[in-house]
Amino acid sequence: MQGNSAKSRMRREAHVRFREGLGAKFPGPTRQELGKQRLRVAKLQAKAARQRLDRLHKISREIVSGHDAVFAEDLNISGMMKNHHLARSVQDTSWGELQRQLKYKCKREGKVFATVDRFFPSSQLCSACGEKNPIVKDLSIREWTCPHCGAHHDRDINAAMNICTEGMRKALSR
Ligand SMILES: [Zn+2]
Repeated sequence: MQGNSAKSRMRREAHVRFREGLGAKFPGPTRQELGKQRLRVAKLQAKAARQRLDRLHKISREIVSGHDAVFAEDLNISGMMKNHHLARSVQDTSWGELQRQLKYKCKREGKVFATVDRFFPSSQLCSACGEKNPIVKDLSIREWTCPHCGAHHDRDINAAMNICTEGMRKALSR
């Protein structure tokens, strides 16, 4: 009997769920509904990836168009991914992809691009006098004063200056 009552419709739906192994007792999504949901999630993920890539292109375009030379630290990305404290930020900024874009855009526009060796102690060197201060290895130290020359440093700016100096040295020597 093909009744159209609510009761018989519920029975048919329950039968479909049971057949699809999703359990008849618990009302939940059917296989078709789950498929739609997965598709929606996949579309959202693809959109987020596109937006991330667009953002990186915008950043690399700005960096390359505003400078004659770009120097980057050749970070050990797979090693950093294993360090849970760093993994998220490295992943979020898509460092590897940004570096790839900087490299080809510099090449295309006839600008200098060089990476600095990952073992170069960019954070620990004083950009004013060159003295090495191993205490700065500690990532929680954001600012420090050089015990040799007394220069006060912001961790990231000091590291960037060292990378710039080393990058220029490398670029000039090749
Ligand atoms: Zn110093």
